[in-house]
Amino acid sequence: MKTLLPCLLLAIVAITSVFAKGGPAINDKCPVDGNAVRIIYRIFTEKGNVAFCCVDCMSLYEKEPSRYPVVPKKPGS
Ligand SMILES: [Zn+2]
Repeated sequence: MKTLLPCLLLAIVAITSVFAKGGPAINDKCPVDGNAVRIIYRIFTEKGNVAFCCVDCMSLYEKEPSRYPVVPKKPGS
């Protein structure tokens, strides 16, 4: 089973990049709790890719996007 893990991770990364359109996330802080985001947790919105710190925040945001304002990161940072 241990040898399967790297393949599985690669598959997840591949799937994520297929579904994530428009490149990197527009934010670097989680809109739900303000933690640093991890790029694997992101969804594509009309504003661009919004990233989250964890899958829980991602699903909270998906339920009520208007409740969590997304702060775009500063360009060049
Ligand atoms: Zn979060």
